[in-house]
Amino acid sequence: MKTATGRTVIRNGQLVDGTGAAPVLDGVLLIEDGLITYAGAADGAPEVAQDTEVIDASGGTIMPGLVEAHFHPTYFNVAALEDLDIKYPVEYVTILAACNAKLALECGYTSARSGGSLFNIDYWLKQAIENDLVPGPRLAASGREICGAGGLMDWNPEFRKIGMEGLILLVSGADEARAAVRKLVKDGVEWVKTYPTGDAAAPDTNDHHTLCMTFEEMHAVVQTAHNHKLKVTGHCRATEGIKNALLAGYDALEHGTFIDDETLDLLLERDVPVVPALYFEQMSIERGPEFGMSQAVIDGHQETLEGGSESARRILAAGGRLGMGGDYGFAWNPHGDYAKELDFFVKYVGLKPLDVIKCATKTGAEILGRSDEFGTLAAGKLADVLVVDGDVVADLSILQDRSRFIAVMQGGVFKAGRVVYL
Ligand SMILES: [Zn+2]
Repeated sequence: MKTATGRTVIRNGQLVDGTGAAPVLDGVLLIEDGLITYAGAADGAPEVAQDTEVIDASGGTIMPGLVEAHFHPTYFNVAALEDLDIKYPVEYVTILAACNAKLALECGYTSARSGGSLFNIDYWLKQAIENDLVPGPRLAASGREICGAGGLMDWNPEFRKIGMEGLILLVSGADEARAAVRKLVKDGVEWVKTYPTGDAAAPDTNDHHTLCMTFEEMHAVVQTAHNHKLKVTGHCRATEGIKNALLAGYDALEHGTFIDDETLDLLLERDVPVVPALYFEQMSIERGPEFGMSQAVIDGHQETLEGGSESARRILAAGGRLGMGGDYGFAWNPHGDYAKELDFFVKYVGLKPLDVIKCATKTGAEILGRSDEFGTLAAGKLADVLVVDGDVVADLSILQDRSRFIAVMQGGVFKAGRVVYL
């Protein structure tokens, strides 16, 4: 991805650096050739050279670009799970994924980690974004996900004779788990996404207390992935599944819903980040009936929401790390709503706005393994920056309104916001 040339100064706004520190009320951000050269108070900022482009953030907030840590670019706001792999051909889903990537960037998300994709679309989308062919967040790719046969994601009945080839690699036993990871190694992904547990969405055979992979399968995934320098994460709701993931050596957990004292200790011991994705649960409860969800499914989402909220509070209070990402891409939780996750964590879960911003910026970059490049506003980092009209710390819901974005920048290049569209 190209970085900007020349100098830009953003000033007159409060500067929120993404570390969780209190805002600098009269902040200045200096950018030179795509890199931040100064982030701090106006008082003490270096002189601005004559040929510097000036962005006025008065009354607004200067903050790091957001990181969507659980992004499904190929989920095209589906109303039924089976639509994910059989409704459209891969060619059309690729185009839809490019549209979702553009939308995410316009929503202020300058980076994202894929939580799984149809075929290897996210990997090739990443290449197109890196080569500036299509706009989108800096991506970490996951490609196809791994699930035990008969588990949550093995939903196509045998009579269809199509398996789950495009979306999921189904495994039975450690050898097949290793073979699945080796396919992903060849695909070029950075993360291996697995399904250690079920979900409220499948109350009959794979609910949120059901295991969908054995410890042996998970351990084989981790050994093979780590050998090839890939990282491993998984959809972990049931306590036993969380424990298996942590003991198997997972690098991150998705959801981490029903954590207990023992699993919290294991999590903190290795400082494994968790992406709860809770707004999806809220929307499933609120809008599920419109989409034909049964009462059993809704009740399961309610239990998941409460368990997940409690776990998120405990993890952060104990000094653990949370990423913000929301499983967007379902009809009741569509792409574009990403920032609703953030305000929800303040208003429903009870976290502090500055902590949520840190989760959505600094921790997100750490999950991507790129915290030395972006995620906070500091000298030497890439200028992945969001400039917003309004006090984001006082009201995180401002981030849901794209018309309030003055600028969305990647590497100092203006990609969206008023400065681009005016
Ligand atoms: Zn997901």
